[in-house]
Amino acid sequence: NLSHDGQKWTAKDGLTRGLPTYGVIKPESHIRQQSNNDKIWEVIVIGAGYTGLIAARDLVKAGKKALLLEARDRVGGRTWSAQVDGTTYEMGGTWVSHVHGRLFAEMQRYGLKDEVQMTRTDDGGCSYFTLDTGSGSRKLTLKEASDMTMRAWRIFVNFDGNDGRSICPLPYSTLGNSRVTFEQVKAVDQLSCRDRIEQIRDQLSADELALLESLVPHICAGAVEDVGFLEMLRAQALQGFTPETFEEVWTLYKIREGQSTLARRVFDDAVRLGLQYSFKTPVRSIVQDKQGIVSITTTATGGETTTYRAKRVINTIPLTVLSTIHFDPPLSPLRQEAIKIGHLNHLTKIHAEVEGDLRGLRGCTWPGDLLYVYGDGFCAGEKSTRITSFAGDNRGKLDPLKEPERLATALQRFHPMNIKKIVFHDWLSDPYSMAGPAWYRTGYLTKYLAELQKRHGNVLMANSDWASGWRAFIEGAMEQGALAADTAMDEVGILGANTPPL
Ligand code: FAD
Repeated sequence: NLSHDGQKWTAKDGLTRGLPTYGVIKPESHIRQQSNNDKIWEVIVIGAGYTGLIAARDLVKAGKKALLLEARDRVGGRTWSAQVDGTTYEMGGTWVSHVHGRLFAEMQRYGLKDEVQMTRTDDGGCSYFTLDTGSGSRKLTLKEASDMTMRAWRIFVNFDGNDGRSICPLPYSTLGNSRVTFEQVKAVDQLSCRDRIEQIRDQLSADELALLESLVPHICAGAVEDVGFLEMLRAQALQGFTPETFEEVWTLYKIREGQSTLARRVFDDAVRLGLQYSFKTPVRSIVQDKQGIVSITTTATGGETTTYRAKRVINTIPLTVLSTIHFDPPLSPLRQEAIKIGHLNHLTKIHAEVEGDLRGLRGCTWPGDLLYVYGDGFCAGEKSTRITSFAGDNRGKLDPLKEPERLATALQRFHPMNIKKIVFHDWLSDPYSMAGPAWYRTGYLTKYLAELQKRHGNVLMANSDWASGWRAFIEGAMEQGALAADTAMDEVGILGANTPPL
């Protein structure tokens, strides 16, 4: 079960590629019919991330004939867990919360609702927060750090005296609703996080300012100069209009055996219900003919190309990867523009196994190679600790594939530690992600979101990168997968009667 994905670094062996995961699918292909040439599938789903898995599962559960095509050797896309020396590491999407209703419903369905553990504990090892903002490093209690962050965040989002409710009362309908017009939202979308910080700078202490300037890139891995302030208002609205729930909703609970357990259960269930699939099968082109049939051409590892045809396609390829796919007819000029601009999340997430008990470790170093750190429970054997750390956009500054030792140096800024290994997935050089999950630049949401959500003829475009609700979360992927499957299952069988014009 060794995947091609993931990297491990040790001082002794240097950097190695490929980590074990139960997300790997073997055999890699299961397509029953011998001759693919004449076959027209009811629905082809491209991508086995959570969007694609939920869509595929829903389709076969409704009795539709569906084929799943995935470029990687495993399920889960940007959410997967590796098992290294008995310890589970979440390489991408990680934290779950009951606020994520679709996700928790899936955990319930597959027997995982109680199989949850906490990332950090308030006791264990060094239970304090290292704040190192360039003018020196000091230790805060967890409460001091939390109070300081919350005070700064409250001032930041409270630009209307109502914690942002007047612009984002209902985060699933950000583009306007009965309480706020599109024009009002659009005006706020012209503000960057830097613009907003400048409005409140005189109310913040130097440390509060540093915490705010680092928290924004921790959330979305873009610089405050680039991130739309509306993105932060949506985040605040989604977590219940209060910073008090931030940690519980965003960074506390994980599936004990890892996200790949859930992804695998959804996939295995779909296969039991008749899903056919092919992994290590990158899609190169998506072409729709005049009759509305969509042809998907793929290139396998050996270089041989295959074409599959379907009445409907659910395309879950991420925003940043769409430019690598040939579409005929071409995508709309507005969508092409949105793809070209892309989003700004270029995060690095790294784990380390460190000697001893550092489960209580927390901290922020700003500016720095790594922004935030969390103690993340014991490793197998309970003699060492797993710690998880995040960097913002380090492109052009630190390439973890070229300088993994620098990650080890950066970790020492949070606390002296003896690092046994570092484990990560370089999402930026990965051709099937090319970035993290989508957070938008100033002005992007109101200009492009509606276009990104549109179908392209008989190709339904679904991905967490343009979800209405929890965009950039597993929950958003599940939203998109379920909606696209609903549309496709309503339409197949009535080909010709309901084919919208391109
Ligand atoms: P993806 O998972 O990207 O799925 C798309 C699939 O399409 C992939 O499997 C990909 O391989 C495949 N594909 C791409 N190109 C092709 C091609 N040409 N042919 C065939 N297949 C192709 N979310 C949370 O809820 N909580 C978190 O704590 C959290 N933390 C995160 C931390 C990191 C480091 C990252 C990267 C993400 C995190 N997320 C988190 C976000 C979450 O992981 C994503 O929103 C979600 O997994 C996206 O699912 P998706 O199916 O929409 O897209």
